Amino acid sequence: DIDPTVRPEPLPEDTDRALRPQMLGEFVGQAEARANLRVFIQSARQRGEAMDHTLFHGPPGLGKTTLAQIMARELGVGFRMTSGPVLAKAGDLAAILTNLEARDVLFIDEIHRLNPAVEEVLYPALEDFELDLIIGEGPAARTVRIELQPFTLVGATTRMGLLTTPLRDRFGIPTRLQFYTEDELFIIVERNARKLGAPADEAGAREIARRARGTPRIAGRLLRRVVDFALVDGDGTVTRDLADMALTRLGVDHLGLDGADRRYLGLIAENYGGGPVGIETLSAALSESRDALEEVIEPFLLQQGLIQRTPRGRMLAHKGWAHLGMRPPKSQSD
Ligand code: ADP
Repeated sequence: DIDPTVRPEPLPEDTDRALRPQMLGEFVGQAEARANLRVFIQSARQRGEAMDHTLFHGPPGLGKTTLAQIMARELGVGFRMTSGPVLAKAGDLAAILTNLEARDVLFIDEIHRLNPAVEEVLYPALEDFELDLIIGEGPAARTVRIELQPFTLVGATTRMGLLTTPLRDRFGIPTRLQFYTEDELFIIVERNARKLGAPADEAGAREIARRARGTPRIAGRLLRRVVDFALVDGDGTVTRDLADMALTRLGVDHLGLDGADRRYLGLIAENYGGGPVGIETLSAALSESRDALEEVIEPFLLQQGLIQRTPRGRMLAHKGWAHLGMRPPKSQSD
């Protein structure tokens, strides 16, 4: 099927700790988010208070976790990390919250997948740094209030729309992350190639940047594969020819689309005359979950102008037809 290397979701074997930027100054791209965070971090430091709760939203692999870690480092505080699906019971969250030290950063990934009972516990913790816990069962049950140290919650989500309103409202700093430009990814690829000990020439780094689907995580993975070829088949330098050969083998085309992206576009073109076609229909026909389509596949295709989202469903845009080397049916070409 599709090589998971080219997909933006995290893989267990991601060993990119060495490549992760450590401080805000090393973080490339997301200029607006970076500029704002710099101010809020400095202000929190000057006041000696916990920074406001921050929410990062955007597609996978754009740097949400990285920015949360950078925040803790820049604030000079501890960092704890968990995720929505892992926090099954209110007690799981309470155990983490009561162990935080003053001004620590708690990072909750996939925060849209919090169990509602856990989310209830989170509200007073975020608002007043208090926990209301029910101890015991039945007639002996009683509520105890626990004071918490002030902390900063950093939430990350790929699906802003799935967050409940009360949770969304408790983040003082909502921040949307954007796909990276080719120039930004170029800087990231060049820098990482040097860190990996296999320097990239300009055209080689550019080729990877152009085909990384706007996503640093993918750029990092593609680079590793190209470096493999550079070491075995070349002289250790990442060149354009090596990059092109490796990426083509991985099924990544010149726009950075992989097999799953092209199947999606091809289905709308060939089976539905270019659309509009509903998301559920696409999900069934592709055997991909609706979530995967909406979180992973569609954002980049929309950003590239290959598809459009209309009230009646998804449609192939002109650029999408052109990319497939096909022509839209007459009714759509005007
Ligand atoms: P997310 O949490 O949004 O899924 P991560 O923060 O885990 O994404 O980032 C994915 C990978 O991309 C990590 O290996 C990280 O080092 C790298 N990365 C993300 N943003 C940048 C950036 N701006 N510069 C360099 N590397 C980055």
